[in-house]
Amino acid sequence: MKKITVAIFSTVLLAVIFQFGHHQGTTGQSIMSAQAAESDSGDTIQSPTKPYPKHNVYYPGTEELKPDEMRVIALGSGMPMPRLKQAAACFLIELGNGDKFIFDMGNGSFERIHALGISLDYLDKVFITHPHMDHMADLATFYMTGPQNNRSVPLRVWGPGGGGMREEWSFKTAMDHMEKTWAWMNGTLAGTIDTTAFKLEVTEYDWSKVNNVIYEENGVVIRSLPAIHFEGTASFTLEWNGLKMAFSGDTLPNKWWIEHTQGIDLSIHECFFTPEMAIEKWGFSSQEALNAVTTVHSNPSYFGKVMAMTKPKHAVAYHFQNDFDTLPIIMDAVQQVYDGPVDYARDFMVWNVTKEGVRTRMAVVNPEAYPPVPLKEKHMEEGGDRYQTPDSVLAGWPEEMQEVAEKIFTDFNKENETEYKFQLKK
Ligand SMILES: [Zn+2]
Ligand SMILES: [Zn+2]
Repeated sequence: MKKITVAIFSTVLLAVIFQFGHHQGTTGQSIMSAQAAESDSGDTIQSPTKPYPKHNVYYPGTEELKPDEMRVIALGSGMPMPRLKQAAACFLIELGNGDKFIFDMGNGSFERIHALGISLDYLDKVFITHPHMDHMADLATFYMTGPQNNRSVPLRVWGPGGGGMREEWSFKTAMDHMEKTWAWMNGTLAGTIDTTAFKLEVTEYDWSKVNNVIYEENGVVIRSLPAIHFEGTASFTLEWNGLKMAFSGDTLPNKWWIEHTQGIDLSIHECFFTPEMAIEKWGFSSQEALNAVTTVHSNPSYFGKVMAMTKPKHAVAYHFQNDFDTLPIIMDAVQQVYDGPVDYARDFMVWNVTKEGVRTRMAVVNPEAYPPVPLKEKHMEEGGDRYQTPDSVLAGWPEEMQEVAEKIFTDFNKENETEYKFQLKK
């Protein structure tokens, strides 16, 4: 009996809703006709043929960034342990003046950066907090695959050095060795593709200085703060157009962060597991777990306390595996000491920051991305530096393949009215 009553009530309710929509939305015409439904303000909100304009997600490449707006995207919210769901540390900051900055580039983050469909020519400024793999590993891939991914400008990178840090640990040494590690790749590509992308401009900042300006261009100021995470580790603040965001890298709570991130618009700080979670999920021993989350990293209670002491307009916790069973434990620990607005980052979480406030959404990205088309015409390097495969290796080229290759050229030239010639040797 009860079920039948509910069914009848539901039918009546649906009919009422239908009628309401019918009259309000289509001004008396059939709802089946191809008429757009309009809101009270006259905006088209639904149509069988036009795009539906109200989405609660962010589709990269479809929204103009307003001149006074900052957009931050988590492209790595996770850990050194690889997982499909979360790359290691990486955040993109986009500004309404057209500038874009990448803070950290941990393992797995490049494919997420690439999925946004942004030309690498716009992603030419990368800031590294410290040389742990989960904050820097993908820099090598990002740099070395620049030519294939249509970067046509030099890559500018900033990383820690000085301040008593050992020379062999410094960022300049690391970048020098990175180029040496990939010397074969660099050398064999010479003369066959545009290698402008291999130009690397390295700037070392003194990580030990407090509130130290490490970048100041086009109205944007980036400062570094020392972090407590071994040595040679920093956090960053970015100020532009009256907005201020901060990004912690790895650190214990520290007085420099607390002093210089008071009341800022967006405060992104590491938030590790609790000791119990580190034992259960990572297989750490008790001592390892306690050490890691209390003497090297900020556990959720530390994170909450830092936010309670700094009261940002909006807080972001990152650097943990964010799953259905871990999130409630992290949230509970944070909420015991902090009750302000906080997002628990997942990859592709997006924050639109303006003076009016922060809007959080998830981005829906393209898993089948290709490199955006080059912004400049590509030029192969001319001259004597072109690499040539040795004759002894080319001796393995089967004679039968010659006519196959030549046919490809004949067909191409016919189709394109060109006169290219097949040649294995220069
Ligand atoms: Zn670290
Ligand atoms: Zn880390």
